[in-house]
Amino acid sequence: MNFFQRLREKVTQWFAPSHFKCLGCGKELFDAVGFCTDCLKQVVFNNGKTCPRCGVGIDGEETYCCTCAYEKVYFDKAYSAFSYEGMVKKAILDMKFHNMACNAKVLARYLVYLVHKHSLQFDVVCYAPMTPSAKRKRRYNQAQMLAMYFCDMLDRDDALTEAIVKQHDTTPQEKLNKQQRKQNLVGVYKLCANVKGKRVLVIDDIKTTGSTLNECARVLKKGGAASVVCLTVASRKENYSYENADELY
Ligand SMILES: [Zn+2]
Ligand SMILES: [Zn+2]
Repeated sequence: MNFFQRLREKVTQWFAPSHFKCLGCGKELFDAVGFCTDCLKQVVFNNGKTCPRCGVGIDGEETYCCTCAYEKVYFDKAYSAFSYEGMVKKAILDMKFHNMACNAKVLARYLVYLVHKHSLQFDVVCYAPMTPSAKRKRRYNQAQMLAMYFCDMLDRDDALTEAIVKQHDTTPQEKLNKQQRKQNLVGVYKLCANVKGKRVLVIDDIKTTGSTLNECARVLKKGGAASVVCLTVASRKENYSYENADELY
């Protein structure tokens, strides 16, 4: 990102309204939690049993989730603060589709919480990219906003890097089956920063199929990244048992 792009992003950030409202119902709040006591009842923290590799919540007996058990995973670890449901799902959808970029300011606090919780060390912070035309349409990239607030809070603006660019638009991953998902992302991401020997964090709002983050991680590892850890606000819980594996793969 050049100087003027950075400046423009900073200005956007300064003028994003300070959020003292509940992300669920809009009620005035007097602390930084982001949710009022009522809405907090509908917030599911990702604190139960999780896959040791990708961090998704697991209900069953398995140690690893189906994806990590059967597929090549390029990132070293992935962590999510919440399960993608209830009020967090609403806050993320508002951030993405209802022009509520200011939600990123509150949600980024939970990414900082993950860094402290897991004592993560890093040299570079990047984010899941959008194509320029998609970004123009939404007016911002919510993953980039999260990454900016995240670096700001940790006083690590030096680490923020536009390491990956998205070269063309793709069909949303959740609309595709496993084979199509892989095909969909071939050649989409391009590395545009030197990450050789660097410990990289990749930030995104949600982890659903995980294939976007995995493809970003593949590109970063190919570029020589020493480690790649993905941080998302929320992840979709692992609902699939091994009996359903055929249908999935
Ligand atoms: Zn509320
Ligand atoms: Zn997993």
